Amino acid sequence: MLTIAEVKSTCPYCGVGCGVLVSTDGANIVSVRGDPDHPANFGKLCSKGSTLHLTTRAGGRLLTPQVRTERDAVRKETNWDDAITQVAERFAAIIREHGPDAVAFYGSGQLLTEDYYALNKLARAVVGTNNIDTNSRLCMSSAVAGYKATLGMDAVPTCYEDIDHADLLFIAGSNAAWTHPIVFRRIEAAREKRPTQKMIVVDPRRTETAAQADLHLAILPGTDVALFHAMLHWLIWEERVDLDFIAAHTENFSALKSLVRELSPAVAARLCGVPERDIITAARWWAESGNVLSMYCQGLNQSTSGTDKNTALIGLHLATAQIGKAGAGPFSLTGQPNAMGGREVGALANLLPGHREVNNSAQRDEVAALWGLSTISDRPGKTAVEMFEALERGEIKAVWIACTNPAHSMPDLTRIHSALRKAEFVVVQDAFAASETVAFADVVLPTTTWGEKSGTVTNSERRISRLTAALPSPGQARADWQIFSQVGVELQKRLAPNTSLHTAFSTAQQIWEEHRSMTVGRDLDISGLEYQSLIDIGAQQWPLPSGSSAPRVRLYEDAVFPTESGKAKFVANGYRGVAEKLTAKFPLALTTGRTRDQWHTMTRTGRSAYLLGHDAEPQVQLHANDMTRRGIAEGAWAQVRSVHGSVIMRANATESVRSGQAFITMHWGQNFLRGKVISGVNALTSSAFCPQSKQPELKHAAVHVELFTPVWSVAAFAIVPAAQLDAARMRWLDHCGSLDVAYAVPIEGEVCGLWCESATSEVPDAQWIEALDALLFSPETQVLRYDDVTSNATRRVAVRDDFVVGARLSGGTIAQPALQWLRSLFLTRTNVRSLSRWLLAPAPPESFIRTESKTLCTCFGVGESEISNALNEAAGDAATRLKTVQQSLRCGTNCGSCVPELKQLARKAALAAPQAA
Ligand code: SF4
Repeated sequence: MLTIAEVKSTCPYCGVGCGVLVSTDGANIVSVRGDPDHPANFGKLCSKGSTLHLTTRAGGRLLTPQVRTERDAVRKETNWDDAITQVAERFAAIIREHGPDAVAFYGSGQLLTEDYYALNKLARAVVGTNNIDTNSRLCMSSAVAGYKATLGMDAVPTCYEDIDHADLLFIAGSNAAWTHPIVFRRIEAAREKRPTQKMIVVDPRRTETAAQADLHLAILPGTDVALFHAMLHWLIWEERVDLDFIAAHTENFSALKSLVRELSPAVAARLCGVPERDIITAARWWAESGNVLSMYCQGLNQSTSGTDKNTALIGLHLATAQIGKAGAGPFSLTGQPNAMGGREVGALANLLPGHREVNNSAQRDEVAALWGLSTISDRPGKTAVEMFEALERGEIKAVWIACTNPAHSMPDLTRIHSALRKAEFVVVQDAFAASETVAFADVVLPTTTWGEKSGTVTNSERRISRLTAALPSPGQARADWQIFSQVGVELQKRLAPNTSLHTAFSTAQQIWEEHRSMTVGRDLDISGLEYQSLIDIGAQQWPLPSGSSAPRVRLYEDAVFPTESGKAKFVANGYRGVAEKLTAKFPLALTTGRTRDQWHTMTRTGRSAYLLGHDAEPQVQLHANDMTRRGIAEGAWAQVRSVHGSVIMRANATESVRSGQAFITMHWGQNFLRGKVISGVNALTSSAFCPQSKQPELKHAAVHVELFTPVWSVAAFAIVPAAQLDAARMRWLDHCGSLDVAYAVPIEGEVCGLWCESATSEVPDAQWIEALDALLFSPETQVLRYDDVTSNATRRVAVRDDFVVGARLSGGTIAQPALQWLRSLFLTRTNVRSLSRWLLAPAPPESFIRTESKTLCTCFGVGESEISNALNEAAGDAATRLKTVQQSLRCGTNCGSCVPELKQLARKAALAAPQAA
C-alpha cells in the first residue's frame, strides 16, 4: 500500500507566505493542501498554491553541474568538485587581477533566509565586495526606502489581522485579487462581515481589484504622488489632520504642508486624469474613517519616483495618526516569498546583516567584529541596474546569478543580454533549465527547489515560517546555502587562507543561529526565538527579543519611532511623473503587470498546463478605440515598439485600460515567446530608476502600436509525453525563432499537448516546413495531407488509433474555424473514425459548436463561456445568480481565485437581464 507522508512548507510564490502541507509517496509530491494552522492563510490556497504539486515533474530540471571552458564551446556535464573548483579558480583569478569589485552576485527573493545569509557572507566577507544585490531591488526597494525615510526602519508596521479592523482599505498600485489572492480572500470576507468597510483602489487599470472598489481612482500612470499630495492638501485645509499627533510624534510637517499648498484636488485632477470630486471623496472617506489601512505594491514601487510615492502615502497616515493601532497603517505587500528575509540578512547592495547599513561605519565595524574580520568594505555596492551596466562596460568581469532570471525580468533586455554576452565569466545557479539566463552561463550549478528545501522565510507581515523538505535532493542538486558555503571555503583558501572567518556551514540551522545572533539589539531582534519553536509553535513575527513573552503583532503602538529623535518624519518631495514622456512617435502609455495564474518568468508555473488555461497566450491589451484607429481587429497581430525594442503579439480589446494606454503582462519571455529580436515586455521597458531606492521603472514605457500583417502563418499542436514537454517546447521555439514572432505553450493537463503559433513576413522554404513536421509528428503516425497550390495553404492532421494527436495548418491565412475544430477534437479526445472526411476541410461540420473558452475556475476546470451562459440563464440580482451558478457548476467554491472574475460576470448578466415590468 502506498504510504503518504505530509510535511509542512510554505508556498514559494507571493509574499502572502501561505502555509502548505505537502504529501509525498516517498518519490514524488502527490498533492498539496493549505495548512489550517498557518496564520497567513488558515488552510486556504489560491490557484497557484493549490497546483504546486503539478509543477514538480522531473523534466526540465537542472540536475548535474555543467561547465564550459572556452567561451564558444558547449557546456559539458561535470561533477561538483570540478564545478566548485572552476568557480573558485575563475573568481579568485579575476579578484587577484582586478580587485574584489570586479565580481558581483545577483540573488533572488526565492532564496531562503539561510541561503541569503551564506551568499551575503561569501560576497562581503570572503570576497570583500558590496556588489551583491537581488531581484528584490526590482520589487520592494522603494517600499524599503519609503519606510526608512519616514518611520526610521524597514519594517511593515501592520499585519493581516488589520484587514478585519479597517474601516477604509486604500489599495494603491496593487491588483491584490490576482497577485496576493489569499489576502484578497481575507478582504472579501472582511467586507462581507462588515459591509460598512469601504475600499478605494488607485490603479490606472480597471483590474479585478478595482472592479470591487467603492471608489476607483483610475489615475494616469505615475501620477500617484500628485494624488496623495492633493488628498493631504484637502485634509489640511479642511482641518482633518491630527495636529496633536503631528506635533508630538513627527517632524518636517511644515515643509510638506508648504509643498502641497498649490496642489489642490483641482490641480491634481488635471495631472492625474481623474475627476476632482473623486479626489475629494477619497480624502473625505480617509478623514471620516476610524481606521485606515493602505495596501500597496509594484504600482508604487516600480517607478522612478517609487520612494516618493511611498513617502507621500505614509505622510497621509502620519498626518491623520492612522498608524500604530488595529486596522491602520501603511502595509507594503511583499512581492516575493522571502524578499523580507533577504533584507533581514542584508542581501542588498546598501545593507548589511541585521538591518545594518554599508554607509554607516559603526555598523560596518559591528559586522566585521561579529564575523571576526578587521573590516568590511565601505565602497558602495552596485544595485541591480548598475550591476548589469558595469558588466556591459567591462568594469565587472564576473557575475554569479542565483535563482533568478535577469535575462527576462530586468528592464531594457537588449542591454542586459549584451552585458551577459560580454561578461568574462557567468555562473548561473538554478533549479530549472527554462530560465532564459541559463543560456549565458559558463558554469551551471543545479539547486534544490520548493519541496526539496529546508530553512526559513519571512512573509509580508514579518512572520517567519519553517519549511521542511518533503523529498530528498534530486540528481546532484544541492541546497543553495550549501553551494555558497562550499565555494566560500574554496575561495577563502585561495584569497585569504589565514583569516578565522567561518564559512563552512554544515546545516541550515547553524546558519540561522548565526543570523539570529546578528539581530541582537536591532529592530528585528529575534534573540528570543528558537529554531525548533518555529515547528513546535508555528510561524512567528519579529521582533521577538530575548525575554519577550510574545512577538510584536503591530509596530509603533507607543508612537515612538526608531529615528534619532524618536519621531517619524514627513518627506517633502514633489510630483515628477514618469521618466519616459509620451511623444508623437511613442504616444501610448504601456503599463505592465501580472496575470492570475502565472508567477514571474514562468520557470515554475509555466510547467503546468492547468495554469495556462486561464491566460493561454501572450497578448497586448488595448482600448477598443485605439484598436479601431489603428485598424487592428480583435486577435490580430500587433507590433509594439518603444525606444528600447519591439515585440509582436496578438492584440485584444479590453475595458480595463483607457484610450491612450496599453497593457502587457510581464510573464512571457524567450522560453514561450520568440522572434527575430528579443521578446517579452522587458524588451520595451526602460532601465531608468528611482534615485533613492534604485528601483527601475518596470511599470511604464512610452510605446507605438501598429498592425502587423504576416504574409505567412503557421499554427500547430501535437501530443507530447509529460516528461518531454519543456524540451519539446524549446525545440519548436528554436525552430520557429527565426520567424518574426512565435510562441509555444502546453495546452492541457491530462492530455499533454503543445500548442505553437507563429507569424512571419517571409515565407519559409519547403525544407523548413518539413523539418517542422518532423518535430511535430512521429514517423509511425498516420498524417493526412492537404495542399492548395493556389493559395499556398497546407493542412496536416495526425491521427493515431482514431484520435487526433497533432495538426499543422499554414499558409497566407489560417482557416481559424478548421483550427478551432481540430483543437477541440484533440482536447476532448473525440473518436474521429466517422469524421475523417472533415478533418482536412477548411471549416468544421455545421453541427460543431465552439464551446472552448478560457478556464476561469482552475480547480473544477470550468470555462468562461459555460459560466456566462449559466449566469445569463439564472434569475435574480448578481449575488443570487452567482450563488445559483456556484451551486450548479462549483466554480469559485474551492480556492476562490476566480471569484473576482465571477462577480464581474454576474454583474454583467444581471445588468443585461430584461427588467421585470
Ligand atoms: Fe501562494 Fe497564493 Fe498564498 Fe501567494 S496567495 S503564497 S501564491 S497560495
